[in-house]
Amino acid sequence: SRKLIVGGNWKCNGTQDDVKRIVEFLNKAEVPCTNHIEVVIAPPAPFLPILRSTLRSDFNLAAQNCWTGKGGAFTGEISAEMLMNLNVPWVILGHSERRTLLGESDEVNGRVFPQQVLLSMHLWCPMVAEKVAYALSQGMKVILCCGETLEQREKNETTMVVARQIKAVADKIQSWNNVVIAYEPIWAIGTGKVATPQQAQEVHANIRAWLSQNVGEAVAQAVRIQYGGSVTAANCKEIGSQPDVDGFLVGGASLKPEFADILNARI
Ligand code: 13P
Repeated sequence: SRKLIVGGNWKCNGTQDDVKRIVEFLNKAEVPCTNHIEVVIAPPAPFLPILRSTLRSDFNLAAQNCWTGKGGAFTGEISAEMLMNLNVPWVILGHSERRTLLGESDEVNGRVFPQQVLLSMHLWCPMVAEKVAYALSQGMKVILCCGETLEQREKNETTMVVARQIKAVADKIQSWNNVVIAYEPIWAIGTGKVATPQQAQEVHANIRAWLSQNVGEAVAQAVRIQYGGSVTAANCKEIGSQPDVDGFLVGGASLKPEFADILNARI
């Protein structure tokens, strides 16, 4: 069976004082044995080193993004090598906020990128897939985000959109061992409108079916799929009890003590 994995994505939030406060409640949180659950905390990059030196060692760290390739003259970017060097083994890639606000795409068609970016993408490589492939090549583990907009859901395009996002990556990687998929419907992110357990289960099962048909049955059964979007202590148990939901990627609630309760969703 698949090990539960819960991520806390702080997004662009927090001060040094907040870090201290959050680490305090994380360090004293009672969680199931780490044989049963994996916890990954994704603070803003500047806080990664202080978290690594103050956070309990059974919780891992993730960056919220990284560059498409090797470091160099890419002002403002963070490379996978740097993250590994800081003892940060995980990275969240393809988050919808980066796809929509920063133009990260699973397709290049119709998008204009600065020359420098196109070159580093080898012109034809979709950006998110390029990032995933490079991070994996450096030994990192990746939380790959996917999910549809409300408009796409209403047009019945959810399955197609999510499959396209995953296919872009499947075309570029050889192994799914170090990849976790986070299904995050955009209409549920930060809105308080959580997907119903049935809605989450349906998409998760479709992702697994896609993997089974296009990558292989073993991978489809092994890959963990998190649900993300307005997860709270109050709604996590029901969603977490769905057969194809293997954990959560939590935004807002990961900054609050209730995150400790979410870690215990399955008990
Ligand atoms: P919220 O939990 O704040 O809805 O955010 C979800 C998310 O985007 C996690 O990556």
